[in-house]
Amino acid sequence: MSQRLTDAKRVVIKIGSSLLVDQQSGDLRRDWLDALMDDVASCRQGKQDILLVSSGAIALGRRSLGLGARMLRLEDSQAAAAAGQIRLAHAYQESLARHGVPVAQILLTGDDTERRRRYLNARNTLTALLAHGSVPVVNENDTVATEEIRFGDNDRLAARVAAMIGADCLVLLSDIGGLHSADPRLHDNAEFIAEVAEITPEIEAMAGATGSHDGSGGMVTKIQAARIAGQAGCSMVIADGTAAHPIARLRDGGRGTWFTTAATPTSARKRWIAASLHVRGSLSVDAGAVKALGQGRSLLPAGVTAVEGDFQRGDAVVVRGPDGSALGRGLTAYSTADAQRIKGHRSDRIQAILGYLGREEMIHRDDLVLG
Ligand code: GLU
Repeated sequence: MSQRLTDAKRVVIKIGSSLLVDQQSGDLRRDWLDALMDDVASCRQGKQDILLVSSGAIALGRRSLGLGARMLRLEDSQAAAAAGQIRLAHAYQESLARHGVPVAQILLTGDDTERRRRYLNARNTLTALLAHGSVPVVNENDTVATEEIRFGDNDRLAARVAAMIGADCLVLLSDIGGLHSADPRLHDNAEFIAEVAEITPEIEAMAGATGSHDGSGGMVTKIQAARIAGQAGCSMVIADGTAAHPIARLRDGGRGTWFTTAATPTSARKRWIAASLHVRGSLSVDAGAVKALGQGRSLLPAGVTAVEGDFQRGDAVVVRGPDGSALGRGLTAYSTADAQRIKGHRSDRIQAILGYLGREEMIHRDDLVLG
């Protein structure tokens, strides 16, 4: 199983509050964080992209604002998050600076992963940050997250982000070591579940029986996260992160419950594109482009001869050959208006024509499904 972590090109690691912040003192567990960031730096050295989703802002902010351990009203937890987030981000920055790795902070709400335009922007920014060798640190944007658009738990946020960036492995680190057939605190014969290939009602029932001291999650949100990740072709592991170097231990075969999927991020994305209900228009292409697409290449503006329909960047469109027959479908990187202007032109002309530096491809090969 640990192979899934070592082989992954892109890994999302979710860090629960109970690991980062000492439950008694409310202090940041600096040595533990440094050890984890040593693991992260070594993954990066092995050419893996790493993105962190970190909780802990509210726990840290409570202390700065002197709010104690009492139940907080929504606006007080939002205030605590705002005060704590700055310390949280700083801690990551300092810890990774020891390895010369740049850190970037991203705060998201549920809306940002659902509305297409915001989704695309977040996705592009995260992808660019990874391409520039940085480690993005994501948390929920608690200040603006009203009930309707809140995740409320970082397990699902982490899964949505993993799906968004096409990660192939999601690691949920918390004080929950994984899934048991029954609550191990109550049943001596409770068995540890090492692999879940399918989330059945039985698995869901087991999840209900596993408790945690962690932030807002618990096993139920972790199972929801596993579903989201699985649909996106991303394997997920739940592991206890309490002791130092949890990632190194997992890589060495350490214990965790793995939710495996036969799909890959690319195959899952392609399946989703093939099934997309709303096709907003079409792009007709010349014979040269038909050949290039057949060889698995992207569709460039130069090969496009006609643009029809009313679509925005990120919409699904049909690709038609010179005889008008449908070759497949894909997600376009340009709106109808922009596609009209750059069709038939070489990609190095895009900036001069549109006034901004857009993507080189009209449809990237990962966003294209033929047949
Ligand atoms: N966004 C919250 C925080 O940073 C955590 C939510 C969670 O733990 O799931 O404190």
